[in-house]
Amino acid sequence: MTFEEAVKKLKESGNIISMPRMTILRYVLNNKTHHTAESIYEALKSEYPNISIATIYNTMKLFAEKGIVKQLMIDEGKVYYDSNTYPHYHFKCKICGKIYDVEIPACSELNNMKEIDGHQIDEAHIYFYGICKDCLNKEKSG
Ligand SMILES: [Zn+2]
Ligand SMILES: [Zn+2]
Repeated sequence: MTFEEAVKKLKESGNIISMPRMTILRYVLNNKTHHTAESIYEALKSEYPNISIATIYNTMKLFAEKGIVKQLMIDEGKVYYDSNTYPHYHFKCKICGKIYDVEIPACSELNNMKEIDGHQIDEAHIYFYGICKDCLNKEKSG
């Protein structure tokens, strides 16, 4: 989603685009990765010392509701927000905790599924857990 599309979406549903919201929106759309409220706060605090972590939490919740970011339940303790909303799947490393985007062979078929057993599908999440290739390499090299 582009910045303009996201602003339009927020305005359409009657949301005020305040400065902090603008700042957060620009940041997450320019950095298409998996964000937490904490990681956004860390990235923005030096340039925008007035932004609070509560504002970031609330803003990201709103963005997720509006489909601007996707909320990931891959971690029990942390909410991740993915600013890449193109359908894709995730792998989480048990050792380093890094989250990777992954393609699975049946991906395109899954992405095109609009219903299952007569139920309408709005979104699908698939999470894989294991040891990532970086950590595997580290283990091998001792
Ligand atoms: Zn790892
Ligand atoms: Zn992702």
